[in-house]
Amino acid sequence: MSPQSAQSEPPPHAPLAGVIGWPIAQSRSPLLHRHWLDRYGLSGHYVPLPVRPEHLAASLRALPKLGFVGANVTIPHKEAVLTVADIVTDRAALIGAANTLIFRDDGTIHADNTDGYGFIANLEQNAPDWLPDLGPAAVIGAGGAARAVVASLLESGVSELRIANRTRIRADQIKAEFGARVVVYDWAQAGNMLEGANTVVNATSMGMVGQPPLRVLLDALSPDALVTDLVYAPLMTEFLRNAQDRGCHVVDGLGMLLHQAVPGFERWFGRRPEVDEAARQAVL
Ligand code: NAP
Repeated sequence: MSPQSAQSEPPPHAPLAGVIGWPIAQSRSPLLHRHWLDRYGLSGHYVPLPVRPEHLAASLRALPKLGFVGANVTIPHKEAVLTVADIVTDRAALIGAANTLIFRDDGTIHADNTDGYGFIANLEQNAPDWLPDLGPAAVIGAGGAARAVVASLLESGVSELRIANRTRIRADQIKAEFGARVVVYDWAQAGNMLEGANTVVNATSMGMVGQPPLRVLLDALSPDALVTDLVYAPLMTEFLRNAQDRGCHVVDGLGMLLHQAVPGFERWFGRRPEVDEAARQAVL
């Protein structure tokens, strides 16, 4: 081999990926990806990447040059990455946020949102009898995560999607963008939208460690409803406990966190990882 060809074909290196956020120390994604890398004996590294908002664009452009094949994105960058990415999937554009980036060989940045996929996959795994189209869904909250949940529930065939948010205009905006199947309820009447609901979702940050619990009147909640919370710290929120006390099947939010990571890991490291008890324990 001539010195010239050796220079143009560097030795292959272990793929690098990471999670971009500010701050980032709280992210559990490195624990999960390192668990999967170890478990499958794959070469590769997944690191936390603390990136200040003002450095986002420059950091994203630099990462592929440093050998990164992709990255997850978390608060506060999920919306801003869309303005830097070269290709944005339809679902990320609809949701208005991305959580998974792929750095392609041609230098382009591809942005996707896998939160909705993770949300549905978590319910399919932990509530196998759940049928999304059996009745209305009720979503509490209208932030970034709620938009992913709304998109995925509508895609799953939900005929009516009820939504309530403290700041009503964000729920109205979701109706304007996602269409006629969305029905907006006043925050003060959030309990009313549970009547006849087949699926109930807390997509607010209420109930999270350090936040007040979500207090929605559950009188109208049917014991046949599936109730889930996006909050995963704690695993059993007061909202889920109250729903469980009424006889509902409840699913915590940790599975969504695990499942949303699957497509990125598969793409970057070449193996579709399993979401099982060992993966749960790795991030707990
Ligand atoms: P976000 O965009 O900041 O939205 C926060 C939502 O919570 C909004 O609907 C907000 O209402 C509501 N909220 C916050 N404090 C409230 C209060 N005191 N009273 C009433 N409503 C309140 O955040 P996000 O990204 O959507 O995340 C929401 C939650 O989902 C977080 O706990 C996050 O950790 C969790 N999450 C989990 C996963 C997972 O994989 N399990 C994935 C993504 C997010 P306003 O619009 O009125 O402010």
